[in-house]
Amino acid sequence: MTATTTPHSAGPAAAGCVTAGTAAADATATDPAASDTPAADLDERIRRNPGAHRILTGDRPTGPLHLGHYFGTLQNRVRLQRLGVELFIVIPDYQVITDRDVADRLAEHTENLVLDYLAIGIDPDRATIFTHSAVPALNQLLLPFLSLVSVAELNRNPTVKDEIAHSRQSAVNGLMLTYPVHQAADILFCKASVVPVGRDQLPHLEITRTVARRFNERYPHPDGTAVFPRPEAMLSAAPLLLGTDGGKMSKSRGNAIPLSADEDTTARLIKGAKTDTERRIGYDPDARPEVSSLVLLAALCQDRAPEAVADEIGDGGSAALKRTVTEAVNDHLRPIRARRAELAADRGYVRQVLRAGADRANSVAEATLDEVRAVMGSA
Ligand code: ATP
Ligand code: MG
Repeated sequence: MTATTTPHSAGPAAAGCVTAGTAAADATATDPAASDTPAADLDERIRRNPGAHRILTGDRPTGPLHLGHYFGTLQNRVRLQRLGVELFIVIPDYQVITDRDVADRLAEHTENLVLDYLAIGIDPDRATIFTHSAVPALNQLLLPFLSLVSVAELNRNPTVKDEIAHSRQSAVNGLMLTYPVHQAADILFCKASVVPVGRDQLPHLEITRTVARRFNERYPHPDGTAVFPRPEAMLSAAPLLLGTDGGKMSKSRGNAIPLSADEDTTARLIKGAKTDTERRIGYDPDARPEVSSLVLLAALCQDRAPEAVADEIGDGGSAALKRTVTEAVNDHLRPIRARRAELAADRGYVRQVLRAGADRANSVAEATLDEVRAVMGSA
């Protein structure tokens, strides 16, 4: 089946991306995932030769996808798929138990993610959508990859530190520290070259790039080719959308506006969003992060510049800002929500998409594992 909806323009997010930094050459240095320079360079390279690229990205099945996902990474996935780039989406179910003891409603969350993907316009006939647990070869890649990263490197990952701070566990478990290496396996098994993500993922992508480089150096291929590419992060114009409490909008932090929420719920959530007391609305992400994130949200929905949105609201204060944002979000998501409601009637189809994705991901992963075994000299 081919998804037919979502002819939304990719909006300002479409143009925004950052390219990967230059990799250091020595064995201890890590490989920055991105510089701070927004650049159309990566985009331009993809446009020139979409067939030469592969995308891997994913979302934890911890709850419904939200606006941070949509403007942070989902729009880029749809846009790049439409350009002709092959898309892999991992639903990392084992990653759920990094910050909680037991995964809650795993199958339901997983199916809901797939519904969101299809509703926003990801074409399941051309994408490989799979759960981590359905592809055992990923765990075999993890072992050699773990040997390429030091404990100190794992310990200093700022995103992991933030997640530990928000964790529901009293003690940090081993998976919490090592899941970024698991992610390296998720990305490298299909030799992805581009990873559309939010800003919190940059330290993880740095680990992936480091793993790829060190693996290639330690296990050179006899014909001189590198086994793994060093994937580049693609950030959007909204790499860190804030939630209603002013922190990173997250599925697990009770501060998100879900894509699948109804219009009244969306209005209620936005009404409760943190702002500030200044009456004049402006766009200044450093000085006024919460107000600016709301302004940006309206701007992305309306495909306008945030400054223009702020000027229009002028002295209207937070109430006017929230009215504008609510209307913009509900207008933008209306066709997506309608499409999602249609798709939700056929859960069997969703499960079929996951089965087909697992089959394809397994064959790609087995082929990569064969290469890995060969260069490592396994029998
Ligand atoms: P959880 O709270 O369970 O960790 P999450 O909301 O952080 O959920 P993830 O599944 O961890 O979502 O992240 C999926 C993808 O969405 C990643 O690429 C991540 O960078 C991106 N992303 C998540 N939240 C935001 C956000 N607020 N702004 C921009 N991108 C985001
Ligand atoms: Mg997260």
